[in-house]
Amino acid sequence: MERISTIHEINDLINKKEITYKEVTNAYIHRIESVEEKVQSLLKFMPEEALKKAEEADESGNTLSPLNGIPYGLKDNICTEGYETTCASKILYNFVPPYSAAVAENLNASGAILLGKTNMDEFAMGSSNENSSVKKTFNPWDISRVPGGSSGGSAASVAAEEVVFSLGSDTGGSIRQPASFCGVVGLKPTYGLVSRYGLIAFASSLDQIGPITKDVTDCAIVLNTIAGHDKRDSTSVSMEKKDYTTFLNREIKGMKIGIAREYFAEGLNSQVESLLKEAIKTYRDMGAEIVETSLPYSKYALSAYYIISSAEASSNLARYDGIRYGYRTEEFDNLLDLYKKTRSEGFGEEVKRRIMLGTYALSSGYYDAYYKKALQVRTLIKEDFDNAFKSCDVLLSPTCPTTAFKIGEKSANPLEMYLSDIYTVPVNIAGIPAISVPCGFDREGLPVGMQLTGRAFGENDILKAAYAFEQATDFHKKRAVI
Ligand code: GLN
Repeated sequence: MERISTIHEINDLINKKEITYKEVTNAYIHRIESVEEKVQSLLKFMPEEALKKAEEADESGNTLSPLNGIPYGLKDNICTEGYETTCASKILYNFVPPYSAAVAENLNASGAILLGKTNMDEFAMGSSNENSSVKKTFNPWDISRVPGGSSGGSAASVAAEEVVFSLGSDTGGSIRQPASFCGVVGLKPTYGLVSRYGLIAFASSLDQIGPITKDVTDCAIVLNTIAGHDKRDSTSVSMEKKDYTTFLNREIKGMKIGIAREYFAEGLNSQVESLLKEAIKTYRDMGAEIVETSLPYSKYALSAYYIISSAEASSNLARYDGIRYGYRTEEFDNLLDLYKKTRSEGFGEEVKRRIMLGTYALSSGYYDAYYKKALQVRTLIKEDFDNAFKSCDVLLSPTCPTTAFKIGEKSANPLEMYLSDIYTVPVNIAGIPAISVPCGFDREGLPVGMQLTGRAFGENDILKAAYAFEQATDFHKKRAVI
């Protein structure tokens, strides 16, 4: 079988009866067998189960759902009944959830075929996948480089064509930053659009699950399946379901695209900057109106993010104590000793750093100085976006200040690593949606991502703008050679 790579292309071939679901799944299994040794994006691979489902899909002859028979990957913090879900952490190394996450149920019901669970930074804390307690994942465009993180395995598996699409989670950029580093499309939906039921929590007020795909059409198709109200998640919003694919092929003339001056300042790599300027020109040529705007409080976003996310993480991760599930230390003297040893041995460095930071920020005497202040900054950042959206429909910015960095380059300096999320974090703080799409390649051939941010529940606007860009360019068609 020739290499085919998007959901809509596979659907075309299925409809023309040029291919069977079994052939599709087999092609992806073979691909994993030939490239996984180099990419290392998967923590679990389920070829037999996948083939069985593909055969059933062929037998049923049902082609109603566009995701029917499509092999995909799930980040390993998304619960799958009967299959380990580890968050790439030693503390959950043997955890088999008794239920599946809402998104996994939805995908299953749509006929999509789970082919693997993907590697990640432990508990989704990181920007390079180097914090996985299991192994490192490599960037398919250059295996001496990181794929980004924390959904690095999800992005790398799509870029390496090991799966057709995947899901990641994004607390401060973890879908968009690896999508940018791996030259694929990644969407962080509005907070509350996609159910978090069954997503192992990092920072509950920021976490959202979203798709990582080859192109914008696929992104809309997957979003259609995973978005929607779920009463099991108290923050899930009840609203009418949209068909996001209907917003793609629309006129973009007159659309107002905002450029925040703070996002094109110091720290931005010059090649990334010039590709973004090209992208702005492409939009102007298509008839969009470019407006300058400002997000003055975004300079405090990273500081507020690390206080809020760590505070929430310190509380969420308190449940891993060696009693209820997961890893338990072998020798201990008493209950406190059991907790202490289990958590000291079970969590990695970065997770411990965040728990300590969060516990400190919440402790009496410091709560007002740090946590409360961070929440106040959060309100100001949200107001920044509200103001910006008075004069524009979407905001255009880089996804990250740089392209994929070398393995080990930033791992000794957590602060430098944190900076890679400078453009993505404000979006989570405000709870709004943003997409990263490929917008070119640097001189070394590494992909560069452009971020389009929208109003709350404005996924239709950012998908429309992203699709128009994709039609005018062909960066999304270029594949990593591995
Ligand atoms: N890199 C950021 C962090 O380490 C974001 C992580 C995420 O979005 N899950 O917290």
